[in-house]
Amino acid sequence: MQTTTRHDWTVSEVETLLQQPLNDLLFQAHSVHRQHFDANQVQVSTLLSIKTGACPEDCAYCPQSARYDTQLEKEKLMEVEAVIEKAKAAKAAGSDRFCMGAAWRSPREKDMPYVLAMVKGVKDLGMETCMTLGMLDEDKSSRLAEAGLDYYNHNLDTSPEYYGEIITTRSYSDRLETLDNVRKAGMKVCSGGILGMGEQQKDRAGLLVQLANLPQHPDSVPINQLVKVAGTPLEQQGELDPLDFVRTIAAARIMMPESHVRLSAGREEMSEEMQAMCFFAGANSIFYGECLLTTPNPAANKDQALFRKLGINSDHRVTQQPKALDELLKTAAQEDPQALFYDAAVS
Ligand code: SF4
Repeated sequence: MQTTTRHDWTVSEVETLLQQPLNDLLFQAHSVHRQHFDANQVQVSTLLSIKTGACPEDCAYCPQSARYDTQLEKEKLMEVEAVIEKAKAAKAAGSDRFCMGAAWRSPREKDMPYVLAMVKGVKDLGMETCMTLGMLDEDKSSRLAEAGLDYYNHNLDTSPEYYGEIITTRSYSDRLETLDNVRKAGMKVCSGGILGMGEQQKDRAGLLVQLANLPQHPDSVPINQLVKVAGTPLEQQGELDPLDFVRTIAAARIMMPESHVRLSAGREEMSEEMQAMCFFAGANSIFYGECLLTTPNPAANKDQALFRKLGINSDHRVTQQPKALDELLKTAAQEDPQALFYDAAVS
């Protein structure tokens, strides 16, 4: 089966793709996957929150929004050195990409020197760098690119039609503009969405159409499953059928054959069988847990066990040196995280 890279998908065409008999859809997706990737390799990234909570935006799924009472402990922008230390630990634990996320509408000018220093510091460790800081204009995009930032994450979240149900403080076109600025500055784009927010199948198709019809496919496509956090407007949201999640992964693989499709938030709530189906359908990247480096993360061991069961050789030391990873996690957990922060919010 030959695949071509297309940028002219229609929503109805993708709905037809999603509605195929599951075996046909999975076979097609897996065939495409094998043409472009080693089917037994999964890329591993680590995500660190460098500034947590108190975000002015109103994303209905997000515990970091200041508008919702989610009992989330706010944390100020981390010190540069502390971020570099976390990156070193992540590298030793097997991650080759270090993603840094800040709960901002967009980075403020006074934050930029620190953020740029973080990029340079992590880059100097020989790791790939990724950031998600909110909206970016052309100037900030260029400065981040010059500092060595490889990837910028900015999700579209859902279809343009459903978007207004989820976020009102920034528009869909704002998001597309940020992606455009990131790409023009020469960085790679990481962009995906969240499933299970009450959207319909046509919205999942619509999200994929937006991503696949960008002038260049995103290099990474994170597909998240809603984590229902108490205090957010989506706390009581009904369950998404796991097979609809798998179908969306498969369609993403078919439509964006050369992109890394990433299982992101919500993976903790997926069964091993569901994750295995996602890997078969074309997912080939995972996050190694937001809390990995501040609290011991049992999921790390679970991931190793699952990879071993599935014969997935992530080509990382994480599968070869679990003892070293355990020791690193213990050391990280003994640190006093509060000592690592300074008050960047004071103007
Ligand atoms: S912009 Fe990001 S951090 Fe802020 S509420 Fe939305 S998802 Fe959360």
